[in-house]
Amino acid sequence: MSLFDRLVITTLPVVPKLIVRRVASRYVAGEELDDAGRVIRELHAEGAVTTVDILGEEVHDRELARSALAEYRRLLEELKSADLEDCYISVKPTQLGLAIDEDFCRENLEALVGEASEAGIFVRLDMEDRTATSGTLRIYRHLRERTELVGTVLQSYMRRTLDDIAELPEGANVRLCKGIYIEPRDTAWKSYETVRHNFVAALEKLFERGAYVAIATHDEYLICAAVALIDRLGLSRDQYELQMLLGVENQVRRILIAEGHKLRVYVPYGKHWYEYSTRRLRENPKIAGHVLRALLRGD
Ligand SMILES: Cc1cc2nc3c(=O)[nH]c(=O)nc-3n(C[C@H](O)[C@H](O)[C@H](O)COP(=O)(O)OP(=O)(O)OC[C@H]3O[C@@H](n4cnc5c(N)ncnc54)[C@H](O)[C@@H]3O)c2cc1C
Repeated sequence: MSLFDRLVITTLPVVPKLIVRRVASRYVAGEELDDAGRVIRELHAEGAVTTVDILGEEVHDRELARSALAEYRRLLEELKSADLEDCYISVKPTQLGLAIDEDFCRENLEALVGEASEAGIFVRLDMEDRTATSGTLRIYRHLRERTELVGTVLQSYMRRTLDDIAELPEGANVRLCKGIYIEPRDTAWKSYETVRHNFVAALEKLFERGAYVAIATHDEYLICAAVALIDRLGLSRDQYELQMLLGVENQVRRILIAEGHKLRVYVPYGKHWYEYSTRRLRENPKIAGHVLRALLRGD
């Protein structure tokens, strides 16, 4: 860990909330559904499509999981009545109770995905740390037997990812990303180049298996490798999409849209922006460096 990374972690508890809010405002649409609606409309006007996430994770209380489900239902109602082409939902399984009880979480997700499916709205189960991987994939497979309008996420830093791809159901819809959590060496590849290498290997295997892949990265090397692979395999726009986080590499996003790729922006909103931002910074202090550089660039 670099000196800068260590500095970020040790000073985090004393960083004023106002400064964290300034950082968060780049990555979070706001506290309310209306804030998310405004940001989503701007992105769609720019030619992007979106996925919406209500901030919150690691819920250890059934009542809190139920109220998160209720919030997702409100979001779903908004999306049903909004005149938006191709805006879907992302949800963290631990927010709906995976860390409490897998059956409880599956029931909550089955309710959400069932209602969304009826309205023609896709739901993606985000991938969290290693304690959630197997449970999330089991729930995904269960839901996939009931609807095509559900997907999940695989992380290229996980040593198990190539095996997980082999176990995916036919016609899976998978977001591929590097992975954001700090994992031990027996679980995750640790070097930057190895994670990149495994990203390309995983992408190739996903396409070989006929999966629809949402390629989620801001790493120009990987975007270039993905575009080259798509070109080599002669894939069309309905076999893949690119994904980026709100507020990250806005210029690259616009370039990719202008080049004709389908590009989806991940739009988080909600009251838990402070916990979300500080946890992300603690888990991945490099984000502080990215933010600093982006602010200096005036991006
Ligand atoms: C749409 C989407 C969904 C995701 N879903 C998940 C998930 O479900 N589970 C999970 O574990 N991870 C998820 N991630 C996070 C992902 O795993 C990576 O941690 C994150 O995307 C950074 O990796 P990168 O591929 O962009 O490469 P990096 O090497 O980290 O970044 C490449 C470049 O992008 C820029 N950059 C990257 N991040 C930032 C930032 N925060 N602020 C400013 N600039 C930045 C920098 O210029 C950097 O040099 C998701 C990412 C995206 C884009």
